[in-house]
Amino acid sequence: MNVIQFVQAVLTVVVYVPISVESWGRTPEHNADVGGLPTAARPDDFSYHLTWTAVDAFCVSRKRHAVEAPKWKKRAIKACRRVGLQLVDEGDHWHIEPA
Ligand SMILES: [Zn+2]
Repeated sequence: MNVIQFVQAVLTVVVYVPISVESWGRTPEHNADVGGLPTAARPDDFSYHLTWTAVDAFCVSRKRHAVEAPKWKKRAIKACRRVGLQLVDEGDHWHIEPA
């Protein structure tokens, strides 16, 4: 999935689930600053943000994510799957990348 296809897929998810994106593409330095190191538990997270094919999103609003996200999670996972994405719940946000 290239970056244009990824953006189209994320925008399709937005039709079904109210999300805001707080992090998208990253420089290697910024990625390291936020803990996206290649030695992290999920090394793919590192490369997807570096190639602009991952977003970190929150549901409804940053303030209400913890309360609102569980209600929307099933629908969000389904919407992601339909367009070739996967959602990883990282607690205070959802990481979305190609499946
Ligand atoms: Zn992420």
